[in-house]
Amino acid sequence: MSRLLRAVFSRKTLAIATGGTALAAGGGYWYLNSGPAYPLSTRETRRPPPPWTPPSRAEMLKALKASGAIKTTAEDGEEFDLLIVGGGATGAGVAVDAASRGLKVALVERDDFSAGTSSKSTKLVHGGVRYLQKAVFELDYDQYKLVKEALHERKIFLQTAPYLSAMLPIMLPIYKYWQVPYYWAGCKMYDVLAGKENMETSYIMSKGKALETFPMLKSDGLVGALVYYDGQHNDSRMNIALIMSAVKHGATVANYCEVTELHKSSSGRLNGARLKDNLTGEEWNIRAKGIINATGPFSDTLLTLDDPTHKPIVQPSSGIHITLPNYYSPRKMGLLDPATSDGRVIFFLPWQGNTIAGTTDSPASVEREPRAAEDEIRWVLEEVRRYLSPDIKVRRGDVLSAWSGLRPLVRNPSAASTEGLVRNHMLHVSTSGLLTIAGGKWTTYRAMAEETVDMAVNVFQLSSRVKSGCVTDTLRLVGSDGWSRNMFIGLIQRYGLETEVARHLSDNYGDRAWTVCSLAEPTEKNWPLYGKRISSQYPFVEAEVRYAVHHEYAQTAVDVLARRTRLSFLNVHAALEALPRVVDIMADELGWSRAERKAQIAQAVEFFGSMGLAPGTVTKMPEPVPRGWAERAWSELASSSWLWLGRGRRETGHGYSRARFEMGELAALEDAFARNASVKGVDGEMNVKAGKVVDVLREVPGYAEISEKECLYVLEEAGFGAGADIGFHEFVEVCGNLKEIAFSPAPGKQERLSIPVEKSGGGI
Ligand SMILES: Cc1cc2nc3c(=O)[nH]c(=O)nc-3n(C[C@H](O)[C@H](O)[C@H](O)COP(=O)(O)OP(=O)(O)OC[C@H]3O[C@@H](n4cnc5c(N)ncnc54)[C@H](O)[C@@H]3O)c2cc1C
Repeated sequence: MSRLLRAVFSRKTLAIATGGTALAAGGGYWYLNSGPAYPLSTRETRRPPPPWTPPSRAEMLKALKASGAIKTTAEDGEEFDLLIVGGGATGAGVAVDAASRGLKVALVERDDFSAGTSSKSTKLVHGGVRYLQKAVFELDYDQYKLVKEALHERKIFLQTAPYLSAMLPIMLPIYKYWQVPYYWAGCKMYDVLAGKENMETSYIMSKGKALETFPMLKSDGLVGALVYYDGQHNDSRMNIALIMSAVKHGATVANYCEVTELHKSSSGRLNGARLKDNLTGEEWNIRAKGIINATGPFSDTLLTLDDPTHKPIVQPSSGIHITLPNYYSPRKMGLLDPATSDGRVIFFLPWQGNTIAGTTDSPASVEREPRAAEDEIRWVLEEVRRYLSPDIKVRRGDVLSAWSGLRPLVRNPSAASTEGLVRNHMLHVSTSGLLTIAGGKWTTYRAMAEETVDMAVNVFQLSSRVKSGCVTDTLRLVGSDGWSRNMFIGLIQRYGLETEVARHLSDNYGDRAWTVCSLAEPTEKNWPLYGKRISSQYPFVEAEVRYAVHHEYAQTAVDVLARRTRLSFLNVHAALEALPRVVDIMADELGWSRAERKAQIAQAVEFFGSMGLAPGTVTKMPEPVPRGWAERAWSELASSSWLWLGRGRRETGHGYSRARFEMGELAALEDAFARNASVKGVDGEMNVKAGKVVDVLREVPGYAEISEKECLYVLEEAGFGAGADIGFHEFVEVCGNLKEIAFSPAPGKQERLSIPVEKSGGGI
């Protein structure tokens, strides 16, 4: 006993115990004070930032024109140091870098800023867990370096505009026991590689905890889950934040301004370009010491303008996304399957209040407005179904929006012809001096820009023009300085906004949300006092439309509905509904005539076709909101004379499911149903067999083209086997769902082509 006491109270034991306690206390203190994981909030302030109104587009065009003019006034004639072609992530990143080094920069974009791939990404700020797997199992050092660099950039990205990006836990569901150590080791390696720049560390979840966190998950065969962390952002708003930051540093930028020719000196060096304003058709020349081709998937077009014998280097790869209602994923947890039935990655992630699901990497051709193919949409739905509990019926009709983006995979033109696609981004200088930057991913836009401007300074001999080296690793974008995590409370207190609206404004505009609110008109209600929504289910408000026109260069209704607000990405039907009001507000600000308003509506409806709005959905073009007494009087007269002339009631159509039926259409469906139905049950309900639905539809005008396969697909989605009895209301529901898909081409049984992960250069 005494020996035991002596051993317990020996100096050695006491020293170990004291050391252990001190270590535990120190560790605990450090843990408790380690602060928020990511990203740090900025200054706690309730004061609006100093007002800043950027130069208007007209002023920007004037500055662009001045550079090409013969020197007659002091403003004329000074050439730009750099002309950047393309206003996506790459071009905008280069503009911020170059302008913040003090260079005289021009950036032109032929469409709207981020209208290309940069608004259609998966919105992840990530190192690429899947690439790490390749790096480890194939001992691929280049792949390892890519992940390492992306993890470093991930940290800078999240601090550059902290209000626009956030940390997102992503779950990998595990259905086999042997996968537990495999996924665990992979995710831990991802953490280790990020080092001190890591977000939260990854962890394992038991089956019960996984189902509690993600109740929609299929429980059959689930063993557990692994959760790791990456970042998520709002891509087109990040793009516009980059553009506005470049402007703040003195860059001259113009959207809807296209490079149509490249100009060379007598020695064959590029020294300028011809620009065309795509809104007015006006053309002029611009002079610049160096030209940067940042046109992403369209890089070959500019390279061909430079050298008509140029051989194409871009092999575009497309990825599609669909937006589903928010009940498909928890608000703060994403899900990723790294190995689907055909080897591609699939994910569904909460984003801006809804769920986006999708996949990346199928070979594609270059087009300006790519559309998500019907077979791709159904493939994503099939994969989503495999993960969700069987009581959740995932239907085609749940797709609120669908879009496709093109990834610019490139070959290095200087490499041997047999060499394949570059894994990361590529920088290439043509004989004429055209500097092309292509490939990479959103996450690494800053590092790509730094490399590009370093090279530009060298190639175009601009070292005497720069005032500093690269500063973008610490430079914060517009909206960041006066933003804090609790800023939305100040907005509510000052403007009487709904909480959801205030949070949305704070998270998408940062400290600029104060300026947005200052443009808001009173709601004339007791609550909320300000913040009229443009769509009842989404927190976008009318003041954002005015802000977009005056502070963010929005020129069309599509700019507002797709890229300043994200309504068409979240719900294309809601965007269609909001369209006339958005056009009305823009008309206030831009003085649009009735003809222009009609043209804007038609252009937006056309664009919504690339956002998953099925052809035929819009049977009658929405009318502009009448303005002025003459238009209002005419509109009143037209509607009352319509009734007076006895041409019948105004057709409103009937909403069943999400599809709308014309007046005669429902009657035709009812007639055909009645002709084929038999009486079933004590209550005398009329039914048809599910297997006969297609025959019934053959008798309905407009439905004759619907194939048996489409019909079976929709019936199966609704949970009807061929022998099931279907009542009239169920029949109409099925027809409604059929309407949503029947106009799209039926998916063929073709072999799905895919691009191997190590070549995809930035997918999940
Ligand atoms: C489906 C998909 C998902 C992705 N997901 C992620 C992700 O989650 N995370 C991530 O980090 N990366 C992701 N990426 C990659 C990332 O989106 C792209 O790398 C990035 O957006 C490319 O930007 P860019 O500026 O090079 O091209 P773009 O955004 O396409 O910009 C090029 C611009 O050049 C303009 N242009 C073309 N010709 C002219 C001309 N003659 N004059 C003026 N302008 C011209 C075009 O209009 C276009 O706007 C994804 C890519 C895809 C396809």
